[in-house]
Amino acid sequence: MLRTIVVLLLSIGVLSLLWLIRPAPAERIAPTWVVPPPPSGLHERIPAAPPTLAPAPPISTETLLVQPNLDVAIPADLYHPADHPALALQLDQALAYVSARFGSPPTSRMRAQIIHDQGCMLRGLARTDQRVLEVLTCNDLPHHRVINIAAHEFVHQLAHDRYGAVHMQSDLIMLEGIATWGAGSYWLGGSPSFRDFVRDNYSANLLPLATHYRGRSIHDMNQLYYQWASFVEFLLETHGRERLDALAVTGNRQPGSGDYVGVYGVPLAELEQAWRAWQES
Ligand SMILES: [Zn+2]
Repeated sequence: MLRTIVVLLLSIGVLSLLWLIRPAPAERIAPTWVVPPPPSGLHERIPAAPPTLAPAPPISTETLLVQPNLDVAIPADLYHPADHPALALQLDQALAYVSARFGSPPTSRMRAQIIHDQGCMLRGLARTDQRVLEVLTCNDLPHHRVINIAAHEFVHQLAHDRYGAVHMQSDLIMLEGIATWGAGSYWLGGSPSFRDFVRDNYSANLLPLATHYRGRSIHDMNQLYYQWASFVEFLLETHGRERLDALAVTGNRQPGSGDYVGVYGVPLAELEQAWRAWQES
């Protein structure tokens, strides 16, 4: 496949000029107190202009830290070099945590590439077909925000490994709901579950699950990610993993496009009604 599908997280909701969105903006932001504001979605990296006039910029020196579960590359000018081993270890621990929570490990080794963004826009992306996770950050942003973003992106890789590439084009509710749910404590800010988190933060005004975040506020995008994670939690608790796995490979990237009738025997609307009751119980 010539085109590379990636999952991109942004901290501020503004895409770098290096990125063009395909097929449509797909962004997510989480509360800053839980996760560094990260819009997310499937994106495609568009190759830069042919290097006809100027040579490629030099690649900054970086440290490669080989961890038990992944390789971590950190630029030498990002954070204090003495802190690099701890950051790499935390990333490795996050991968181990989300693998256990998600229920299946990566099928092979991956690389976490930390990038020093001079604009200080925290964001991440997972090139799941290349097994490369990138997080862009800067010295003014704390390590834990990098870890929180990475946790979500790791789950995209795990989901790709478990379900195959078809999952990356599945129902957006499943695509981002599973990644957010899988990030668990890295996104919960101390809440015991996504049901609790949604109840405590959004219950007064739940959005319909089949709502696309495109064109909506950062708050709404954020809320949708948490609602979708809660919906995933609900489906797991009430209908089990096997059906969730079946649903995770259906749909066409539109929220609500999954084959709910084929998998659960009822349309999304009926499941959503049950989820709302469960959510408030
Ligand atoms: Zn995502």
